[in-house]
Amino acid sequence: MTATTSTEIDFALRPAASPLPAEERERLLADPGFGQVFTDHMVTIRWSEDRGWHGGRLEAYGPFTLDPATAVFHYAQEVFEGLKAYRQASGPIVAFRPQANAARFNRSAVRMAMPELPEAAFVRAIDLLVTQDREWVPFEEGHSLYLRPFMIATNRGLGVNKPSPTYLFTLIASPAASYFGGGLRPVSVWLSREYTRAAPGGTGAAKTGGNYAAAFAAQLQALAGGCDQVVWLDAVEHRWVEEMGGMNLFFVYGSGSGARVMTPALTGTLLPGITRDSLLTLAPELGIPASEGRISVDEWRAGCESGEITEVFACGTAAVVTPVGTIRGSSGSWTVGDGTPGPVTMRLREELVGIQYGHLADQHGWIHKII
Ligand SMILES: *Cc1c(COP(=O)(O)O)cnc(C)c1O
Repeated sequence: MTATTSTEIDFALRPAASPLPAEERERLLADPGFGQVFTDHMVTIRWSEDRGWHGGRLEAYGPFTLDPATAVFHYAQEVFEGLKAYRQASGPIVAFRPQANAARFNRSAVRMAMPELPEAAFVRAIDLLVTQDREWVPFEEGHSLYLRPFMIATNRGLGVNKPSPTYLFTLIASPAASYFGGGLRPVSVWLSREYTRAAPGGTGAAKTGGNYAAAFAAQLQALAGGCDQVVWLDAVEHRWVEEMGGMNLFFVYGSGSGARVMTPALTGTLLPGITRDSLLTLAPELGIPASEGRISVDEWRAGCESGEITEVFACGTAAVVTPVGTIRGSSGSWTVGDGTPGPVTMRLREELVGIQYGHLADQHGWIHKII
């Protein structure tokens, strides 16, 4: 069976001969954790210099066989995305702003000298996989089906004088409970002065695996320092706050009707989060002025000590909106507010989650109905 798309990439539908029995699936869905459990199927699409995108397939989830000399293993030419499908209370299964992920996927691809995938094909892959594996979309509110599209360089050979002439796009899906586990516990963060995540002209704005590979050493230091996550500072002055692990940061100034939020501006070294962008739109609609700016570590600390900064939170698809409680660095540690989730953090979280789960109207065309 073949399903033709408007982008002229054909998808052959080859459902798994033996999907997981319903009872097994229910058992896994009861406590899926994050990124541990995968659905029965995946979508793959190939690209080559002479044929462009071709050979789209929905097939059983399973391992790849790749030559040890495949380019991605050696030179990390790879990009990925992360978004979620939600089961709304009234029945439909939806994705949140998948076109925005498709566009960012292509910006990442261009930075890594990889081919762009037509946005319609990216969204079509999501529609096909989620429709096929709809039984895997959790019913529990707060749970979701995490979608992980990615692309790797598949050329065989160790030459580095030009990028790979062949690529493989794949989409996999993983039912997910909340990312950090244990409800909305504020996270503690480690200010990394020894390592930097991204430098001007580098790959900080691209969602590419190498950024994460380079971050693990700092994450280990954070854990050793008793913290949950790393906060990255700019590479030039080691002073300006950029982002946290795989999430963007927001600072709340003032309180009550005088509260406003600020997030570090996209300087080219930050990852432009879709959650960040959504909150910059939603906050003013709730009467909370929002701006992009910059804040130094010293200003962060002084602001918390004077009470001017009342809340800090991180945001991203995986963990939605997560309060930051304690900050630790080489020059000591401090706490934001009283260390518990603040009202602006909770209000913004509730608004975003309300739209995603269909409790609140979607006034921005962000909800993409899958089935
Ligand atoms: C994915 C990611 C984010 C968050 O982006 P969202 O689109 O909101 O999920 C932030 N920082 C980094 C480094 C990321 O990889």
